[in-house]
Amino acid sequence: MKALAVFPGPREVKLIEVDPPRLAEPDDVMLKMLDVGICGTDKEICSFEYGTPPPGDDHLVIGHEALAEVVEVGPAVEGLKSGDLVVPTVRRPCPDPKCRACVAGHQDFCSTGNFTERGIKEAHGYLTSLVVDRERYMVPVPPVLADFGVLTEPLTIAEKALMQVFWLMEHRPPWLSPDTPADRRGEGLSALVLGAGPVGLLGAMALAVAGFNTYVYSRELPPSPRTDLVATIGATYVSSQQRAFSDLRDEMGNIDLIYEAVGHSDFAVAALRVLGQNGIFILTGVPGMEAFVQSDPASLMRQLVLKNQVLLGTVNAGRDAFAAALEDLERFVQRWPETATALIGGRYPVDEAQDLIFGRSAGIKSVVSFRT
Ligand code: BGC
Repeated sequence: MKALAVFPGPREVKLIEVDPPRLAEPDDVMLKMLDVGICGTDKEICSFEYGTPPPGDDHLVIGHEALAEVVEVGPAVEGLKSGDLVVPTVRRPCPDPKCRACVAGHQDFCSTGNFTERGIKEAHGYLTSLVVDRERYMVPVPPVLADFGVLTEPLTIAEKALMQVFWLMEHRPPWLSPDTPADRRGEGLSALVLGAGPVGLLGAMALAVAGFNTYVYSRELPPSPRTDLVATIGATYVSSQQRAFSDLRDEMGNIDLIYEAVGHSDFAVAALRVLGQNGIFILTGVPGMEAFVQSDPASLMRQLVLKNQVLLGTVNAGRDAFAAALEDLERFVQRWPETATALIGGRYPVDEAQDLIFGRSAGIKSVVSFRT
């Protein structure tokens, strides 16, 4: 069967033939991949800037955003059967019994750094036809999300952040009641999303369904499919080529939440300066090495302290965030069926995966499909 692999030594990216995997552990499941999304991390891995093959291997099979169908289960598998749809999580725990996060099944907060990530760090990924993994790393997907499940993993980035934001909002202003219905938790609050890529747009959708007055700020000039999408979810799109951060502050009032999904340090620091009183700033983008820029850390520190602000970085996601993502995806599909469909520009065969990674634009989220 075919797999898309990166060879960091000779700096090559190519389709290779690999043997189909076999069940090895009693709680293993065999997955037939249906859809695999391509993201910025895959592009970085294929540019040899990121990613590590499994120990002893000269290559890494990429792909970590997946929707799959269970086609075989081991004798100890209890909760899954052939035909079930699942999204496999990405990160696997480190072996250290003292890592409380990994012991608790929250390897997204691994404290040793010795975790592995399928398709990214020391474990092969999902850009191939069949994959075997343990039942415990699978998240069941309701059949109603068969066409959208591939969006789950990129949405978990926002969901993990929002779970922490809502926890904070219960314990500090605006002292949100834990009984608040899911679609009213952002009521009366404003949120600014930086970036209109898939992570930004999915984050904007999650904020909009939670009731935030949501703005998306990015370079692109309207109209475009991305800026149109922002309008269909009832959010406001603003181009950084037309308006400055200070204009946003004037228009939005107190900016309660900023969700950064660009990975550009200059842009993030400029945004931080307009964060409002008691505001929370979420960083999700991983910047490359950028030129040194002159900054004014003292004024930022004054602002963070005197305005009770929170700066929160977040990476990867646990099972709880995957479950929250699936709940939100159902809300998106119910509320904005056409918008949810528009997120996936098309499904392409694995032979075209390299084109998708190296440039060809295919809608908002490029998807390689193994459906036949
Ligand atoms: C993935 C995460 C992963 C992170 C860092 C992201 O693209 O969605 O699962 O933890 O890259 O490797």
